[in-house]
Order: sequence, then C-alpha cells, then structure tokens
Amino acid sequence: MNKGLLLVISAPSGGGKGTILKELFAQDENLRLSVSATTRSPRPGEEHGKQYYFLSREEFEGLIQEGKMLEHAEYVGNYYGTPRQPVEDWMEQGHDVVLEIEVKGGAQVKQLMPECVSIFILPPSMKVLEKRLRGRGTEEEETIQKRLAKAREEIPHAKDYDYIVYNDALEDAVSDLRAIIQAEKLRFCRNTNSIERVLEDAETVC
Ligand code: ADP
Ligand code: 5GP
Repeated sequence: MNKGLLLVISAPSGGGKGTILKELFAQDENLRLSVSATTRSPRPGEEHGKQYYFLSREEFEGLIQEGKMLEHAEYVGNYYGTPRQPVEDWMEQGHDVVLEIEVKGGAQVKQLMPECVSIFILPPSMKVLEKRLRGRGTEEEETIQKRLAKAREEIPHAKDYDYIVYNDALEDAVSDLRAIIQAEKLRFCRNTNSIERVLEDAETVC
C-alpha cells in the first residue's frame, strides 16, 4: 500500500476552502481532514474536537513545547496549529490528509515535508472575496476589515504553492482539486513498486 498524500490547502479567509472541501470530502472517502488547534473562540455551531480543538494560550504553548505540533502560526491575534500524530498515522494507513492552513504554516510544512502537495485557492477578485466574506455573516465588521487586509498580504504567497485553484464556479474548483489529487497519485515517485509488480508473474506467462 502506498503512503497517503499530504495536501496543504490555503486561501484567504472567505476564499472558499470550507465550501470546496465539504464537496470534496463528500466525493472522496479516502480523504481525512486534520483538525487543528486554535486559541480563537468558537463561532456559533462550532464544537471542540470537530472544527477545531479550542485551547487556551497556555495549553497551546504547552503542545508546541512538547513537539506535538507539526506546524503553528499566529493569525489575526490567535494561534493556529496542526497536531502531528493523527496526520502521520493517517498517511501511514494510506489516507490522503488535508491540512487547511494559512500561508506561514503552509511554508513550514513545505520545508519539513517537501513531498507534500500545496494548493492555493484564489477568489475571482477582491470584490467577490469581500462579498462572500460579508455574505457568510460570521464576522463583525472590524474582523472583516482585518481579514481583507490579511488577504491582500496572503494572496501574493500563492506563488510559493504547487497549484492554483480558481474558486469562481464551485463545481469547477472541486473538479480541479480532484484532478490535482488524481495526477499526484500517478507520479512515478509514488508508484516505484509498480514496475516490479507488473513484471512479477512474467516468468509464468512467457
Ligand atoms: P473559507 O473557508 O475559505 O473562509 P468559505 O468556504 O466559508 O471560505 O466561503 C466563504 C463564503 O463564500 C461562504 O458563504 C460560501 O458559501 C461562499 N462561497 C464559497 N465558494 C463559493 C463559490 N464558488 N461561489 C459562490 N459562493 C461561494
Ligand atoms: P478561521 O478562524 O477562519 O477558522 O481560520 C483562520 C485562518 O487560520 C485560515 O486561513 C485557516 O486556514 C488557518 N488555519 C486553520 N487551522 C490552521 C492550522 O492548523 N495551522 C495554520 N497555520 N493555520 C490554520
């Protein structure tokens, strides 16, 4: 069995990560989503252990010191990070694992695990991004302004990613992401046993 892919997916807040990934997960049962830890407060409907592990700053810093975070970063005044163990276990079991993380964390993972596949989701324009962020209705005006300013900082980092997915029509974005995963699984470096496997029974045939 081949080890699973590590997929690093970033986008500015409101870029559509959550929406695209919900569709993707409905279509691909081999995928696993890493549940991050954060020090931000839960939004209405969010549950500890489901969308995030909601921790105090002290708890979060304890996990960093114990080496239990694969990566971590500060984003708009809060810590966010990826617990290491579930990611490593799922990949060993052959599952493809998605990290939905911001750009500083994405850069840390790329350096630590260069074989990861990094994908940046781009909105069609800043105007559309603002409209979608407002339309989601989950943030106060001040937070929306901070997230839009952050988006302007983050979008230039798209150049450091392996792939760009444009989130204009949702179904196109989802099928582009699926195409990337499919092509990455077919890379020779991830199929080094296949030649031996094909030739294995050559003696009995010839
Ligand atoms: P993120 O997880 O990156 O912060 P969301 O997935 O929450 O972003 O998307 C932000 C808002 O934009 C949501 O209200 C979502 O329904 C909407 N949205 C996302 N993708 C599209 C799309 N392709 N077309 C129209 N609306 C979209
Ligand atoms: P939100 O508060 O909207 O859920 O997330 C804010 C930002 O933090 C998003 O860009 C999201 O991708 C990022 N994020 C979520 N989890 C992690 C994580 O584990 N590590 C890092 N570096 N960023 C994360």
